[in-house]
Amino acid sequence: MKIASVVVDVPAKQTDRSFDYLIPDEWLETIQPGMRVVVPFGPRKIQGFVTEIKAESDFKKLREICEPMDLEPVLNQELLELGNWLTENTLCFKIYAYQAMLPAALKAKYEKKVRLSAGVLINDLPIQLQEIFTNEEAISWDEALKKGLVPILQREAAKGILEVIHLVKGKLNKKKVKFVRPLLSTADLEAELNELPQRAEKQKEVLRYFVQNPEPVELRHLLADLNISSATVKSLVEKKLLVEKFMEVYRDPYENRTFTRTEPMRLTDDQQSAIGPILSSIENNLHEVFLLYGVTGSGKTEIYLQSIQDVIGKGREAIVLVPEIALTPQMVNRFKGRFGNLVAVLHSGLSAGEKYDEWRKIQRKEVKVVVGARSAIFAPFENLGIIIIDEEHETSYKQEEMPRYHARDVAIERAQKNNCPVVLGSATPALETFARAQKGVFKLLSLPNRMNKRALPEVEIIDMREELRAGNRSMFSRKLFELLKERIEKKEQSVLFLNKRGHSSFVMCRDCGYVMNCPNCDISLTYHKVKEQMKCHYCGYESYVPNQCPECSSDYIRYFGTGTQKVEDELGKILPEAKVIRMDVDTTSQKGAHEKLLKEFHEGKADILLGTQMIAKGLDFPNITLVGVLSADTMLHLPDFRSSEKTFQLLTQVSGRAGRHELPGEVIIQTYTPEHYSVELAGTQDYLRFYNREMIMRKAHHYPPFYYLALITISHEQLMTVVSATEKIAAFVRSRLSQHAVILGPAASPIPRINNRYRYHCLIKYKREPELTKTLKTILDQYQTDPKSGLLVSIDINPFILM
Ligand code: ADP
Ligand code: ZN
Ligand code: ZN
Repeated sequence: MKIASVVVDVPAKQTDRSFDYLIPDEWLETIQPGMRVVVPFGPRKIQGFVTEIKAESDFKKLREICEPMDLEPVLNQELLELGNWLTENTLCFKIYAYQAMLPAALKAKYEKKVRLSAGVLINDLPIQLQEIFTNEEAISWDEALKKGLVPILQREAAKGILEVIHLVKGKLNKKKVKFVRPLLSTADLEAELNELPQRAEKQKEVLRYFVQNPEPVELRHLLADLNISSATVKSLVEKKLLVEKFMEVYRDPYENRTFTRTEPMRLTDDQQSAIGPILSSIENNLHEVFLLYGVTGSGKTEIYLQSIQDVIGKGREAIVLVPEIALTPQMVNRFKGRFGNLVAVLHSGLSAGEKYDEWRKIQRKEVKVVVGARSAIFAPFENLGIIIIDEEHETSYKQEEMPRYHARDVAIERAQKNNCPVVLGSATPALETFARAQKGVFKLLSLPNRMNKRALPEVEIIDMREELRAGNRSMFSRKLFELLKERIEKKEQSVLFLNKRGHSSFVMCRDCGYVMNCPNCDISLTYHKVKEQMKCHYCGYESYVPNQCPECSSDYIRYFGTGTQKVEDELGKILPEAKVIRMDVDTTSQKGAHEKLLKEFHEGKADILLGTQMIAKGLDFPNITLVGVLSADTMLHLPDFRSSEKTFQLLTQVSGRAGRHELPGEVIIQTYTPEHYSVELAGTQDYLRFYNREMIMRKAHHYPPFYYLALITISHEQLMTVVSATEKIAAFVRSRLSQHAVILGPAASPIPRINNRYRYHCLIKYKREPELTKTLKTILDQYQTDPKSGLLVSIDINPFILM
């Protein structure tokens, strides 16, 4: 007797463990750990993951597994264990951990059907239903709804004549296409070829093709290549010379592209010294984490490519993560160009089917390298030789839903298990990362110079308060306006960048740039229009909205925020001759829109590209000679302790967009706070000084990397219920942790109400709290097992969005 431990697809506290099932004899040989199976669960049938096969169980009366859903495991042993790690470290349900590792196509879909109960005869049914159940064994719920049959079905079900069943839809939609192959040996084909009458020239041509290429070929390719009709093939099939059959093919999103092969370049001295330690780590099967710190264009990607070359040479595999938005054709080309068919690509632009097919190439070891966004960190390789994370500071590496993991942490965990290096690359590393490199936990590798020795562009910071004083109330400074006009005349291109994000609004004095900050947290207070109030979303501090600037007494202090639409309108007024392409969430929501707009801009169809942060990356067009940042401040005053860091990173990155090629570039940064260090130091692209300056702030206010954070968010339809639950939770946390931990809140979340649910949170800052995980688990146990309370509690360890 064999027993399988199964984690079932019911994300709830009570079911967040494995259940034992008997393996029926017929599946004894088949079922293995890491496979998906269909199991009975209460009255339903659901999907589950087999985590272990064992000989005994503590439970009696085990039910049997219905059937396997896979022919081979979809999770290998390492990933099964990684699931435990994820569950423990992000406090998620185990089923979510496993599902996060698989392409969406493998997520179970359930189908509700109605069928005749056992032992019931057709004649027992009302006439109206008899025909349906004569032809079909069961009718799907959707179909019943469409035909208006639900009430009558329900009546019969209540009598026990019919029953409702839930089926797991396991059938995967693999793409199959028609192939043609010869039925005879090459010699026999040649003989047949001579038998064919002279006028059957087309048919002869096909046979000649197969004499030379006996392999199966996709029908549509054959027709196109030989310029023949399907009738020609058909007649050869009827003569039993060829045979048609459906074969599975991969949906290849890059099918119609050709990639120019590139050879490794001779590394510069800087690159040599940077790659040395990585190669020796690969050579010695050592787990080490490297921070490859170098500006854009300093040759990082070439180092990635050559390290991977080494890894492949040793018969091992590589994962490369790049931010979603940077997964441009340009980036993909560089990897496909070097490693050709050995590369799989995973990003959100692919259809579910395409993603599934790319994933299977990894699963079947047909590729050696995966280049992908965050979730590619779970690529089912079994012999990893390196994990690379490019632009490692990007916040998109943190997943904001369960499991709330950071790809960097998962990378380090996997690399440890595989005894291989992790390479983190960035020009503006996350503070946490750079601090670890300074301490020697990570090894710092630097590339101080740009490859082509091209100078970084000239950056000018414009003080918008001066503009106001000079009587200019527009959102364009005089200098920026002048330069834009000049570019249009010279037929060069400009990029305008509106640094705007999210739901936050703040109040700023337009005379002196003063912004109200929380005295406790040093983050800006958020303006609440409805209540005319200023609030801190970390600690709950409240204040009135000033109608005079406390700093300079100006009356010109007000709510701040501008949309791309508004900028476009104003551009139309002041530069009516300019052709503008606007890129923001509104204009790029459709699949492919992003690429299409960029292509138009590249082809010179517009003078100005106007957009939000989505245009900060990947833009590498020779004709861009001016970059304007309209308001560097908006992100600076987000209620987020990382706002200075994000501002610095973004300004540095946008500045790098100008003058990357022959034409020199200029950058204009408009701001109301030119003296703020993250604006000033972005102007000189001085990361080290920024790092030192920002670390002082972080230390003073107990933020990472000096402290860790955990965020508990509680929501409910009743405000009073949320507030009192959050108070209780905060008190409980206080009673369990040491006095070194700082517990802030309860405070309203920056988005205080979503979907009619009020949201409150409590933020924990800590250094070493051995009781923390247990405490948080207790809280989850208590609230997740009591659905009647209506309270939803979520916990984010190392949160990135404090909203
Ligand atoms: P990064 O990834 O830091 O932005 P890249 O690796 O893309 O830098 O290098 C920038 C440019 O320099 C690319 O066009 C690349 O092809 C080129 N390059 C990189 N390494 C070398 C080298 N050793 N010799 C010549 N050109 C190089
Ligand atoms: Zn002021
Ligand atoms: Zn505060």
